[in-house]
Amino acid sequence: MTINHHLDEATLFSYVAGAMGQGLALVVASHLAICDSCRQRARELEAIGGALLENIALAAVSENTLKSVLDRLDQGGTSEIAVRPLPVSGSEVPAPLAGYVGDSLDDLSWKKLVPGIWMHDLPNQGKGMTRLLRVTPGKAASPHSHRGSELTLLLRGSYSDEVGRFMPGDIADLDDQITHQPLVDSDHDCICLIATEYPLRYTTLFGKVTQPLFGF
Ligand SMILES: [Zn+2]
Repeated sequence: MTINHHLDEATLFSYVAGAMGQGLALVVASHLAICDSCRQRARELEAIGGALLENIALAAVSENTLKSVLDRLDQGGTSEIAVRPLPVSGSEVPAPLAGYVGDSLDDLSWKKLVPGIWMHDLPNQGKGMTRLLRVTPGKAASPHSHRGSELTLLLRGSYSDEVGRFMPGDIADLDDQITHQPLVDSDHDCICLIATEYPLRYTTLFGKVTQPLFGF
């Protein structure tokens, strides 16, 4: 699997720091389970965070704190630091997500939202929404922006928007600066896992009524 779109630094940091809602954290964990590159960056951030904490604790007793911390990192201390989600699932469902929905996206109960779009809601993940979305090829979303963060992990198919083209394994890490209009451009259904921190900002009645995450 070639992954072209990754988590940004701020998102990884808040995940590693445990400062993220459960829904967003599930999407991050699912991407980390299949992305060596982001997993490595998460480990590095954890190491830095751990070193800073130790630095503070040791500063009271040693002037050589920084050196000792760096020595420990040089000795491979980072390998002891675990980034939470780990087992890599062989299927198209990353292991952390499989804990909620099982291994098969086809066996899920999909609820029709509007023609061409189905959803499968995950159990309440705190503020915001977390769901799987299944969209028919050629379906375009309404342009929309966000009040908070939105993370979208592609599981099957592909879509394109102002940011680029997204294939399985890619993650769209959007903040409230971005307005986008995803268009499914694969020849089969596109399925993605989406979490938002807050409901999207819709300007049309249709948008408000359908309460979408993908914007339709
Ligand atoms: Zn990544």
